[in-house]
Amino acid sequence: MRNLGSKPLALLFLSTCLVVLTGCPARRESKEAPQANAPLQRAPSFGQIRFGGDYGTHFAAATAHLLTWTDLYTLDSFVAATAGRPGSLWWDWPGDQIGRWLSLVHVVQGYGWSDQAWPPRVLADAVLPLQTEDGNFGPPGSAAVADVRMLSGNAFALRGLMDGFEDTKDVRFLEAARRLGRYFEKIAPVWETKKDGHLHEFYGHCIDGFVALYEQAGDRWALEAAERIGAHAGRTPHTHHSLSLMRGLVDLARVTGKREYLDRVEDYMAWCRENRTVTGGLPEAMPASEQDEGCGLADWIVVNMMMGQATGQTRYFDDAEHTLVNHFFFNQFHTGGFGHLSFGQEVIGGKRWQGWEGRFGSENPGCCSIWGAWALGQAGRLVVTESDDAVFVNLYPQADIVLPEKGVRLEITGDFPRLNEVRIRLESAEPRHLTLALRVPAWAETAQVKCDGEPVDSSVTGGRVLLSRTWKGESDVEIEFKSGLRLVPWPAQKPLGVGVFDGPLCLGLPASAGDVDLPWAVVVDSSGRPSLDAQGRPRIVDPSGRLLAGLVPVSADWLIPDAKDPIRRRILFGTKRTP
Ligand SMILES: [Zn+2]
Repeated sequence: MRNLGSKPLALLFLSTCLVVLTGCPARRESKEAPQANAPLQRAPSFGQIRFGGDYGTHFAAATAHLLTWTDLYTLDSFVAATAGRPGSLWWDWPGDQIGRWLSLVHVVQGYGWSDQAWPPRVLADAVLPLQTEDGNFGPPGSAAVADVRMLSGNAFALRGLMDGFEDTKDVRFLEAARRLGRYFEKIAPVWETKKDGHLHEFYGHCIDGFVALYEQAGDRWALEAAERIGAHAGRTPHTHHSLSLMRGLVDLARVTGKREYLDRVEDYMAWCRENRTVTGGLPEAMPASEQDEGCGLADWIVVNMMMGQATGQTRYFDDAEHTLVNHFFFNQFHTGGFGHLSFGQEVIGGKRWQGWEGRFGSENPGCCSIWGAWALGQAGRLVVTESDDAVFVNLYPQADIVLPEKGVRLEITGDFPRLNEVRIRLESAEPRHLTLALRVPAWAETAQVKCDGEPVDSSVTGGRVLLSRTWKGESDVEIEFKSGLRLVPWPAQKPLGVGVFDGPLCLGLPASAGDVDLPWAVVVDSSGRPSLDAQGRPRIVDPSGRLLAGLVPVSADWLIPDAKDPIRRRILFGTKRTP
């Protein structure tokens, strides 16, 4: 039994939802997935959610790292990076740092973090005067320069300016975004079919900023520009920029109601799925490269969460969870930041990129560390989504979530990320009929659900167990996800070996335990199942016959301080039958 006692944060929410324990009311199960395929489920605002546990630790580490690094992200660095002159990381991508930062501040302030580290209005005073006559950020006269770094940096700036406007309602942000948007609109003909007939991804990720201009300020010209540009989106190589472009297409589908934009996103995601590792990692450039990128992984998780929200399909949440708890947590360094690790289908980890004379090791605080924190906040917002009569629980990190429209509060606890068991305390001050739609992860063999200790119908409809009833007071829903060790041939199309999974967690052999360049094999019994040692751990064997039971979750050791020389891990294995 887990301690479900109130925590200080929970008290904030409890004041409006003080309830009497009444137990689960009479059961009225429904086989229908209520609006599970509705076009859009609503997301809570950031401020309705508080994370604890493992997710909260990853998010807090990522965020505190940035907000306290005040000798790196100085005001001078924002000025240099916006003007496109030396004096910051990635100064040659004008607008990138300010854009990402404003988007980050939008998220973390939404979750209740302090805005002391460069509040948006202070940044506006410093950098908005640097906007050129042509509307872009960068050196004067740079608008006509055909440099894709100029496009990408300014595209992040466009979205960031709109996030700044949403937060502050300071019209300077809106006016700057409009001028920047007009710059992008003007140069669109040069870039919309520039990449093998497709929209150039360094340009195309301005779409989400255009959609924000339309949604927040009613600028129809911006929506029309986004639609014209979006019509050319395709399979372009840079993973991070392409997936940032895809976020814009999901936004575009939301505001236009046009399914075709989601089809384009799905096509890009299908390509990503073909080329990811068994840990859910993606190469920095599609379809293959020697390193990953924290930014690309961040966008992959967020796009999956957005697609799950847009389509109601649980497969996207499955993929988001898979990458999150394996490759993304693996990519996070002990500093809290993200970056570039060596990448391959059989072995991941090890030094890659190490720019700026190796000052930050393999961490990339110029973009990945900012985007990783941003993504944990953006993805976290979609842990729970709503329709008029249902609450969809999509991921199961420890969290407190208030849903004021429904008058309910959810407290999720459990052993995330392993997820043997989860408990959701649902509190409703007034009787409220709604369906709690619990996602059953694809890796779970079965899900057994109890409500206040009583087993309930745990049949799965549309990837979910549905509890449809009138809730009153305080109810404890317990979910047990059953899954043992399993072997997953990978890559699926043409396996090079098997990945070893314990529930959602991909196990790997760290270089500290054995030579990862050797073709290790998992020892299996006559039926092909992993042979376990006395502690229940899978055994592996190297070509010389040396036996080990040294597999651990690939994301388990993220707090080891190895950013300068990241540890490598073998993630694919052969199989060897015991005689
Ligand atoms: Zn990056």
